[in-house]
Amino acid sequence: MDRFTQLCKNHGLKITPQRAAVYAALKNSKEHPSADQIHKQLLHSFPNISLDTVNRTLITFARIQIIDVVEGQGDPRRFDPNREDHHHFYCLSCNTIFDFHDPDLEQLPLPEEITRTCTITGKRLCLTGYCEDCRQHKQKHQPINFCKPY
Ligand SMILES: [Zn+2]
Ligand SMILES: [Zn+2]
Repeated sequence: MDRFTQLCKNHGLKITPQRAAVYAALKNSKEHPSADQIHKQLLHSFPNISLDTVNRTLITFARIQIIDVVEGQGDPRRFDPNREDHHHFYCLSCNTIFDFHDPDLEQLPLPEEITRTCTITGKRLCLTGYCEDCRQHKQKHQPINFCKPY
């Protein structure tokens, strides 16, 4: 049984063809898509599926930790099927979010005031700035800054 099937089972979530399709569409995307983008893609196979259903399905998946919600910068909520340790680069110009890995960052010490009082379920660094493509088209760009991991 794969992880998706297992987690749905553990949480008593019935795997309908639509739910399986929502998960597959997200899983096959490297773009950290929004519900809207997944909905558009699914309309080919499920002409009657509503955006609301897709959105609710994704939020349910996130709640039982099959996937992650990625907080964009004021855009619609985006989703991430990759639950392994990884970090994000967010382009302020084209809204691309891509993954990167750095073993040193996994070792980053966490502030004790947080570890003492809260349960940490994820650790991710989000770098913001301008991606390679956008940088080439920009005369001046702001320096990359760090946003807090969540
Ligand atoms: Zn960009
Ligand atoms: Zn990611």
